[in-house]
Amino acid sequence: MALEISNAKGCYIYTSSGKSYLDFISGIAVSSLGHGHPKIIKALHEQIDRHLHVMVYGEYIQKPQLEFAQLLLDQLPDSMEQIYLVNSGTEANEGALKLAKKYTGRSEFVAFNNSYHGDTQGSLSVTGRDIYRDPYLPLLPDVYFGEFNSDSALDLISDETAAVILEPIQGEGGIIPADKKWLTSLRKKCNEHNTLLIFDEIQSGFGRTGKLFAFEHYGVTPDILCMAKAMGGGMPIGGFVSSKQIFQTFKYDPPLNHVTTFGGHPVSCAAAHANLKELLEGNYFKRAQEIETIMKSGLKGKGIKEVRGIGAMLGLELESVELTKHVVDQCFEKGILLGWTLHSNQLIRLAPPLIISDEQLNFVINTILSALKNY
Ligand code: PMP
Repeated sequence: MALEISNAKGCYIYTSSGKSYLDFISGIAVSSLGHGHPKIIKALHEQIDRHLHVMVYGEYIQKPQLEFAQLLLDQLPDSMEQIYLVNSGTEANEGALKLAKKYTGRSEFVAFNNSYHGDTQGSLSVTGRDIYRDPYLPLLPDVYFGEFNSDSALDLISDETAAVILEPIQGEGGIIPADKKWLTSLRKKCNEHNTLLIFDEIQSGFGRTGKLFAFEHYGVTPDILCMAKAMGGGMPIGGFVSSKQIFQTFKYDPPLNHVTTFGGHPVSCAAAHANLKELLEGNYFKRAQEIETIMKSGLKGKGIKEVRGIGAMLGLELESVELTKHVVDQCFEKGILLGWTLHSNQLIRLAPPLIISDEQLNFVINTILSALKNY
């Protein structure tokens, strides 16, 4: 888009040439509370005045890490007892894959076609799209890909499988929610084989779907939960959560299993803590549900195939790639930022900040509808 950014506030991004854009992608599902939320900015200032980096993660006791971890774990099911903090989504998945290998003593993984888990080599190994994988082969061996939402994928799970990794709602694959019955069967099959279930909630986490995490819609709890993106309220941070029992295996042989210098950076943790506190105290989960209702009922008519997704993690599928480009371009001209997902160019990602007003939502709906009409 070649926008030269001057500043960003609330739902808007401003360029150096003086234009303003309504941000309907939120930096790819990051700025859920809008840009520069005052409580996050205040927490950042306070932490910056106290200290920046002081030591490699895990060595010292740092208040922002503890405060954030405690508040987060208090919201999660009892089996989710500990979090390991890193810097990004792909690092969270790397850690989760390593943890599953170490805990189970197995090396096989089951992953899904069209998934996206990140661009480092472990995460790329379980990402189900050849165009991203092929230039870097060979990747991790022993990864088996199944069809998302298909019972045939369950047959790939055996006593050799360390873990199954999936996004409960595939993001880059085109905003495809898992089927509830299928996810329940997947959980059951993992239990039968002592295989760990890893949920990558890097895109769906922290309120985007109208719950803190998307797995809450399904009543299916993973063994390892990966998070990043909206977690830091605009600051870089990631993490993976699991039980004490599973995390025990990270404590020996070698004594440090997943060292990270900057993981859980105190400034990022201060932002993550303020972000989570505000998410829990405000009206954001309900607002995500309202966004779903407004967008799904408003976006109907010629050219539209489907609006799918949960809460404010939505995808608008149009009838052709050319039409999609036309709509995205027209919205851009009218000052609305929309974009594709990585694996699909016929689907517009709708991921507004959760602070967006009805008026702003209707502006986006009307702009899309008039772009569809004048195609
Ligand atoms: N998993 C999912 C589901 C994602 O959407 C992304 C980012 N698009 C990642 C992992 C990778 O996260 P990061 O870019 O922070 O490494």
